[in-house]
Amino acid sequence: MSHAAPGIPPAPAIEGAEHLHSGKVRDLYRFGEGRLLMVASDRISAFDFVLEPTIPDKGAVLTQMSLWWFEKLAPVVPNHVLSVDVPTTVEGRAVVCEALEMYPVECVARGYLTGSGLLDYQASGAVCGVALPAGLVDGSRLPEPVFTPATKAALGDHDENVSYDEVVNVVGAGAASCLRNLTLQVYAVAEEVARDRGILLADTKLEFGARADGTRVLADEVLTPDSSRFWPADDWHPGRPQESFDKQVVRNWLLSPASGWDRSSGEPPPRLPDEVVERTRSRYLEAFERLTGQTF
Ligand code: ATP
Ligand code: MG
Repeated sequence: MSHAAPGIPPAPAIEGAEHLHSGKVRDLYRFGEGRLLMVASDRISAFDFVLEPTIPDKGAVLTQMSLWWFEKLAPVVPNHVLSVDVPTTVEGRAVVCEALEMYPVECVARGYLTGSGLLDYQASGAVCGVALPAGLVDGSRLPEPVFTPATKAALGDHDENVSYDEVVNVVGAGAASCLRNLTLQVYAVAEEVARDRGILLADTKLEFGARADGTRVLADEVLTPDSSRFWPADDWHPGRPQESFDKQVVRNWLLSPASGWDRSSGEPPPRLPDEVVERTRSRYLEAFERLTGQTF
Protein backbone atom coordinates (compact mmCIF):
# COMPACT_ATOMS: atom_id res chain seq x y z
CA MET A 1 0.00 0.00 0.00
CA SER A 2 1.31 3.44 -0.82
CA HIS A 3 1.79 5.98 1.88
CA ALA A 4 2.51 9.70 2.23
CA ALA A 5 2.88 12.11 5.12
CA PRO A 6 0.18 14.74 5.68
CA GLY A 7 0.54 17.87 3.55
CA ILE A 8 2.41 16.05 0.82
CA PRO A 9 0.76 15.98 -2.60
CA PRO A 10 -0.11 12.58 -4.07
CA ALA A 11 2.84 11.11 -5.94
CA PRO A 12 2.40 11.18 -9.71
CA ALA A 13 1.70 7.85 -11.37
CA ILE A 14 4.72 6.53 -13.25
CA GLU A 15 4.36 3.78 -15.79
CA GLY A 16 5.98 0.55 -14.67
CA ALA A 17 6.47 1.85 -11.13
CA GLU A 18 4.41 1.18 -8.01
CA HIS A 19 4.30 4.01 -5.50
CA LEU A 20 5.48 2.93 -2.05
CA HIS A 21 6.10 6.02 0.03
CA SER A 22 6.42 9.78 -0.08
CA GLY A 23 8.54 11.75 2.34
CA LYS A 24 8.66 15.50 2.62
CA VAL A 25 10.85 15.71 -0.45
CA ARG A 26 11.18 12.35 -2.16
CA ASP A 27 8.82 9.82 -3.69
CA LEU A 28 9.79 6.16 -3.66
CA TYR A 29 8.47 3.54 -6.08
CA ARG A 30 9.04 -0.16 -6.60
CA PHE A 31 10.54 -0.52 -10.04
CA GLY A 32 10.86 -4.18 -10.89
CA GLU A 33 12.26 -7.04 -8.87
CA GLY A 34 14.59 -5.79 -6.13
CA ARG A 35 14.73 -2.32 -7.65
CA LEU A 36 13.47 1.03 -6.46
CA LEU A 37 12.92 4.31 -8.27
CA MET A 38 13.85 7.20 -6.00
CA VAL A 39 12.43 10.48 -7.27
CA ALA A 40 13.48 13.83 -5.83
CA SER A 41 10.66 16.33 -6.15
CA ASP A 42 11.12 20.11 -6.15
CA ARG A 43 9.45 20.33 -2.74
CA ILE A 44 11.26 22.25 -0.03
CA SER A 45 10.70 21.94 3.68
CA ALA A 46 11.56 24.31 6.50
CA PHE A 47 10.72 24.16 10.19
CA ASP A 48 9.24 20.71 9.41
CA PHE A 49 6.64 22.07 7.01
CA VAL A 50 6.52 21.34 3.31
CA LEU A 51 6.30 24.78 1.75
CA GLU A 52 4.48 26.19 -1.26
CA PRO A 53 5.40 26.63 -4.04
CA THR A 54 8.15 24.23 -5.13
CA ILE A 55 11.69 25.35 -6.05
CA PRO A 56 12.21 24.75 -9.78
CA ASP A 57 15.10 22.34 -10.52
CA LYS A 58 15.76 21.53 -6.86
CA GLY A 59 15.06 17.82 -7.34
CA ALA A 60 17.40 17.61 -10.30
CA VAL A 61 20.16 19.60 -8.60
CA LEU A 62 20.06 17.38 -5.52
CA THR A 63 19.91 14.19 -7.54
CA GLN A 64 22.92 15.23 -9.63
CA MET A 65 24.82 16.27 -6.52
CA SER A 66 24.16 12.93 -4.87
CA LEU A 67 25.33 11.06 -7.97
CA TRP A 68 28.49 13.15 -8.12
CA TRP A 69 29.29 12.26 -4.49
CA PHE A 70 28.46 8.57 -4.89
CA GLU A 71 31.10 8.42 -7.61
CA LYS A 72 33.66 10.33 -5.53
CA LEU A 73 33.01 7.97 -2.62
CA ALA A 74 33.13 4.74 -4.63
CA PRO A 75 36.66 3.94 -3.36
CA VAL A 76 35.33 4.16 0.21
CA VAL A 77 32.01 2.35 -0.01
CA PRO A 78 29.72 0.73 -2.60
CA ASN A 79 26.45 2.55 -3.28
CA HIS A 80 22.90 1.60 -4.20
CA VAL A 81 22.72 3.28 -7.61
CA LEU A 82 21.97 0.91 -10.48
CA SER A 83 21.07 3.28 -13.28
CA VAL A 84 20.01 6.79 -14.21
CA ASP A 85 17.95 5.45 -17.08
CA VAL A 86 14.58 6.50 -15.69
CA PRO A 87 11.11 7.31 -17.09
CA THR A 88 11.22 10.57 -19.06
CA THR A 89 8.79 12.39 -16.74
CA VAL A 90 11.38 12.20 -13.94
CA GLU A 91 14.51 12.39 -16.06
CA GLY A 92 17.44 13.98 -14.23
CA ARG A 93 15.81 13.86 -10.84
CA ALA A 94 15.49 10.15 -10.23
CA VAL A 95 17.72 7.13 -9.88
CA VAL A 96 17.10 3.42 -10.05
CA CYS A 97 18.63 1.77 -7.01
CA GLU A 98 18.94 -1.60 -5.34
CA ALA A 99 16.25 -2.32 -2.77
CA LEU A 100 18.28 -2.90 0.38
CA GLU A 101 17.52 -4.01 3.89
CA MET A 102 17.99 -0.60 5.52
CA TYR A 103 19.66 -0.20 8.90
CA PRO A 104 17.22 1.77 11.05
CA VAL A 105 19.89 4.28 12.04
CA GLU A 106 20.54 7.77 10.76
CA CYS A 107 24.32 7.77 10.54
CA VAL A 108 25.40 11.31 11.31
CA ALA A 109 28.94 12.65 11.31
CA ARG A 110 29.65 16.08 12.75
CA GLY A 111 32.77 18.11 12.34
CA TYR A 112 31.22 21.28 13.75
CA LEU A 113 28.80 21.81 16.60
CA THR A 114 25.30 23.13 15.92
CA GLY A 115 21.64 22.12 15.86
CA SER A 116 20.65 19.14 18.00
CA GLY A 117 24.34 18.43 18.71
CA LEU A 118 24.73 21.86 20.26
CA LEU A 119 21.56 21.40 22.36
CA ASP A 120 22.80 18.04 23.68
CA TYR A 121 26.21 19.54 24.43
CA GLN A 122 24.72 22.48 26.29
CA ALA A 123 22.61 20.10 28.37
CA SER A 124 25.23 17.46 29.10
CA GLY A 125 28.67 18.38 27.74
CA ALA A 126 28.38 15.45 25.34
CA VAL A 127 26.73 14.50 22.06
CA CYS A 128 25.37 10.95 21.75
CA GLY A 129 27.49 9.99 24.74
CA VAL A 130 30.70 11.40 23.23
CA ALA A 131 32.19 13.85 25.73
CA LEU A 132 33.41 17.12 24.20
CA PRO A 133 35.75 19.76 25.61
CA ALA A 134 34.32 22.67 27.57
CA GLY A 135 33.82 26.09 26.01
CA LEU A 136 32.46 25.13 22.59
CA VAL A 137 29.89 27.44 21.02
CA ASP A 138 27.44 27.36 18.11
CA GLY A 139 29.54 26.65 15.02
CA SER A 140 32.71 25.53 16.80
CA ARG A 141 34.91 23.12 14.91
CA LEU A 142 35.21 19.87 16.90
CA PRO A 143 38.65 18.54 17.84
CA GLU A 144 37.86 15.62 15.55
CA PRO A 145 34.74 14.53 13.68
CA VAL A 146 32.33 12.45 15.75
CA PHE A 147 29.74 9.82 14.92
CA THR A 148 26.42 10.99 16.36
CA PRO A 149 23.76 8.49 15.33
CA ALA A 150 20.05 9.09 15.56
CA THR A 151 17.03 6.88 15.29
CA LYS A 152 14.27 7.69 12.87
CA ALA A 153 11.29 9.11 14.62
CA ALA A 154 7.74 8.41 13.52
CA LEU A 155 6.40 10.83 10.90
CA GLY A 156 6.45 14.45 11.92
CA ASP A 157 8.64 13.86 14.94
CA HIS A 158 12.25 14.84 15.18
CA ASP A 159 14.91 12.18 14.97
CA GLU A 160 16.36 11.30 18.32
CA ASN A 161 20.07 11.30 19.00
CA VAL A 162 21.20 8.03 20.54
CA SER A 163 24.40 6.66 22.01
CA TYR A 164 26.69 4.29 20.16
CA ASP A 165 25.67 1.53 22.59
CA GLU A 166 22.09 1.97 21.50
CA VAL A 167 23.14 1.43 17.89
CA VAL A 168 24.91 -1.76 18.98
CA ASN A 169 21.68 -2.90 20.61
CA VAL A 170 19.72 -2.27 17.42
CA VAL A 171 22.05 -3.57 14.69
CA GLY A 172 24.69 -5.60 16.57
CA ALA A 173 28.31 -4.82 17.38
CA GLY A 174 29.76 -5.72 13.98
CA ALA A 175 27.35 -3.64 11.96
CA ALA A 176 27.53 -0.72 14.40
CA SER A 177 31.30 -0.56 14.17
CA CYS A 178 31.17 -0.79 10.39
CA LEU A 179 28.54 1.96 10.09
CA ARG A 180 30.54 4.24 12.36
CA ASN A 181 33.76 3.69 10.41
CA LEU A 182 32.11 4.17 7.04
CA THR A 183 30.31 7.30 8.21
CA LEU A 184 33.49 8.89 9.49
CA GLN A 185 35.39 7.92 6.35
CA VAL A 186 32.73 9.42 4.11
CA TYR A 187 32.74 12.58 6.20
CA ALA A 188 36.52 12.87 6.04
CA VAL A 189 36.60 12.60 2.25
CA ALA A 190 33.66 14.94 1.72
CA GLU A 191 34.79 17.52 4.25
CA GLU A 192 38.11 17.88 2.48
CA VAL A 193 36.57 18.10 -0.98
CA ALA A 194 34.13 20.75 0.21
CA ARG A 195 36.73 22.76 2.13
CA ASP A 196 38.90 22.96 -0.99
CA ARG A 197 35.93 24.67 -2.63
CA GLY A 198 35.29 27.16 0.13
CA ILE A 199 32.46 25.23 1.75
CA LEU A 200 32.42 23.87 5.28
CA LEU A 201 30.63 20.57 5.74
CA ALA A 202 29.32 21.03 9.28
CA ASP A 203 27.56 17.69 9.45
CA THR A 204 25.93 15.09 7.29
CA LYS A 205 23.39 12.29 7.61
CA LEU A 206 23.93 9.00 5.81
CA GLU A 207 21.81 5.89 5.50
CA PHE A 208 23.15 2.43 4.85
CA GLY A 209 21.54 -0.84 3.86
CA ALA A 210 22.64 -4.41 3.40
CA ARG A 211 22.47 -6.63 0.34
CA ALA A 212 21.21 -10.19 0.69
CA ASP A 213 24.86 -11.33 0.85
CA GLY A 214 25.48 -8.96 3.78
CA THR A 215 27.49 -6.32 1.90
CA ARG A 216 26.98 -2.91 3.45
CA VAL A 217 25.98 -0.28 0.94
CA LEU A 218 25.60 3.50 1.06
CA ALA A 219 21.98 4.34 0.18
CA ASP A 220 19.44 7.16 0.14
CA GLU A 221 20.78 10.58 -0.93
CA VAL A 222 24.28 11.70 0.03
CA LEU A 223 25.83 15.04 0.86
CA THR A 224 23.02 17.17 -0.45
CA PRO A 225 21.88 20.36 1.27
CA ASP A 226 18.80 18.41 2.46
CA SER A 227 20.94 15.85 4.29
CA SER A 228 23.88 18.03 5.31
CA ARG A 229 24.77 21.46 6.57
CA PHE A 230 26.95 23.38 4.16
CA TRP A 231 28.32 26.73 5.29
CA PRO A 232 30.21 29.28 3.23
CA ALA A 233 33.75 29.07 4.69
CA ASP A 234 34.43 32.79 4.34
CA ASP A 235 31.49 33.63 6.57
CA TRP A 236 32.19 31.17 9.41
CA HIS A 237 31.99 32.88 12.78
CA PRO A 238 31.58 30.50 15.73
CA GLY A 239 29.43 31.94 18.49
CA ARG A 240 26.37 32.66 16.38
CA PRO A 241 24.17 30.59 14.06
CA GLN A 242 25.90 30.16 10.68
CA GLU A 243 24.10 30.98 7.45
CA SER A 244 23.38 27.79 5.59
CA PHE A 245 24.04 27.65 1.91
CA ASP A 246 20.58 26.76 0.78
CA LYS A 247 17.59 27.36 3.04
CA GLN A 248 18.70 30.51 4.80
CA VAL A 249 16.84 32.75 2.39
CA VAL A 250 13.63 30.86 3.08
CA ARG A 251 14.11 30.67 6.82
CA ASN A 252 14.99 34.35 7.09
CA TRP A 253 11.94 35.35 5.12
CA LEU A 254 9.60 33.11 7.11
CA LEU A 255 10.88 34.54 10.38
CA SER A 256 10.78 38.15 9.15
CA PRO A 257 7.77 40.42 9.74
CA ALA A 258 7.21 40.45 5.96
CA SER A 259 5.92 36.87 6.03
CA GLY A 260 3.35 37.62 8.72
CA TRP A 261 3.96 34.09 10.07
CA ASP A 262 4.16 33.26 13.75
CA ARG A 263 6.25 30.13 14.09
CA SER A 264 4.81 29.37 17.52
CA SER A 265 1.25 29.39 16.19
CA GLY A 266 1.52 25.87 14.78
CA GLU A 267 -0.10 27.21 11.59
CA PRO A 268 1.48 26.26 8.26
CA PRO A 269 3.73 29.00 6.83
CA PRO A 270 2.46 31.29 4.07
CA ARG A 271 3.28 30.82 0.40
CA LEU A 272 6.80 31.91 -0.56
CA PRO A 273 7.00 35.02 -2.77
CA ASP A 274 8.49 34.57 -6.26
CA GLU A 275 11.59 36.50 -5.32
CA VAL A 276 12.36 34.15 -2.40
CA VAL A 277 11.80 31.13 -4.64
CA GLU A 278 14.18 32.52 -7.26
CA ARG A 279 16.91 33.40 -4.75
CA THR A 280 16.61 29.96 -3.17
CA ARG A 281 16.85 28.28 -6.55
CA SER A 282 20.05 30.24 -7.25
CA ARG A 283 21.53 29.11 -3.94
CA TYR A 284 20.95 25.44 -4.81
CA LEU A 285 22.53 25.94 -8.21
CA GLU A 286 25.45 27.78 -6.68
CA ALA A 287 26.04 25.01 -4.14
CA PHE A 288 26.07 22.45 -6.95
CA GLU A 289 28.37 24.47 -9.17
CA ARG A 290 30.79 25.34 -6.39
CA LEU A 291 31.06 21.77 -5.17
CA THR A 292 31.25 19.94 -8.46
CA GLY A 293 32.90 22.62 -10.58
CA GLN A 294 30.27 21.79 -13.21
CA THR A 295 27.61 24.04 -14.68
CA PHE A 296 24.09 22.84 -13.93
P1 ATP B 1 11.74 13.15 5.02
O1 ATP B 1 12.23 14.53 4.83
O2 ATP B 1 10.36 13.08 5.59
O3 ATP B 1 12.76 12.22 5.65
P2 ATP B 1 12.38 12.35 2.31
O4 ATP B 1 11.79 13.15 1.25
O5 ATP B 1 13.84 12.42 2.62
O6 ATP B 1 11.50 12.53 3.61
P3 ATP B 1 12.10 9.69 2.88
O7 ATP B 1 10.79 9.55 3.56
O8 ATP B 1 13.33 9.78 3.71
O9 ATP B 1 12.04 10.90 1.94
O10 ATP B 1 12.17 8.54 1.78
C1 ATP B 1 13.26 7.88 1.39
C2 ATP B 1 13.17 6.50 2.03
O11 ATP B 1 13.87 5.56 1.22
C3 ATP B 1 13.83 6.44 3.39
O12 ATP B 1 12.98 5.75 4.28
C4 ATP B 1 15.11 5.63 3.15
O13 ATP B 1 15.51 4.91 4.28
C5 ATP B 1 14.68 4.73 2.04
N1 ATP B 1 15.76 4.23 1.19
C6 ATP B 1 16.78 4.93 0.64
N2 ATP B 1 17.58 4.14 -0.12
C7 ATP B 1 17.04 2.90 -0.05
C8 ATP B 1 17.40 1.62 -0.62
N3 ATP B 1 18.46 1.50 -1.43
N4 ATP B 1 16.64 0.56 -0.33
C9 ATP B 1 15.54 0.68 0.48
N5 ATP B 1 15.14 1.83 1.04
C10 ATP B 1 15.88 2.94 0.78
MG1 MG C 1 14.57 11.23 4.61
